[in-house]
Amino acid sequence: MRPGELIASEHGARAGGATDLVRAWAVLETVMDPEVPVVSVVQLGIVRDLGWADGHLWVLLTPTYSGCPATEVIEQDIRRALETAGFVAPRLELRLAPAWTTDWISESGRQALRAYGIAPPEGSASKRSLFGQAPVIACPHCGSSHTERLSEFGSTACKALYRCLECREPFDYFKCL
Ligand SMILES: [Zn+2]
Repeated sequence: MRPGELIASEHGARAGGATDLVRAWAVLETVMDPEVPVVSVVQLGIVRDLGWADGHLWVLLTPTYSGCPATEVIEQDIRRALETAGFVAPRLELRLAPAWTTDWISESGRQALRAYGIAPPEGSASKRSLFGQAPVIACPHCGSSHTERLSEFGSTACKALYRCLECREPFDYFKCL
């Protein structure tokens, strides 16, 4: 019997202890963002909370932004990964408020983005929009802050396309929302 079957069938609503939640978090750490396959949904801060509902694993998700076509793919990937790990029929709840912000990306997620050649978001989104300052975006390749924006939209709508004026490499910037 796989662990998830035990949770769903025998323990009922009280089933699933802390160790199962830890295991569920570990499973979700392996679910990568379909657009940026080096950061997990946990690192991106899309997974907000885990718990139990009627004996099923309950997952609270906040998509990166409503209407993002990747959201449906992410839901499917999360469901598949959890079911493969033995969590029967996990319940995914989407919550749009408070809205996801790039501030929720973890430090390890930012490092993964940089290593992948995407400039992670700089500073706090809320503070910047408050003062209306254009952020200085450092090149993920050489670290130079001598960069220019080529396009408001990069490879996906969630990113802007920049170019480094030092090493001449173009790169995506994860926009703050
Ligand atoms: Zn550069």
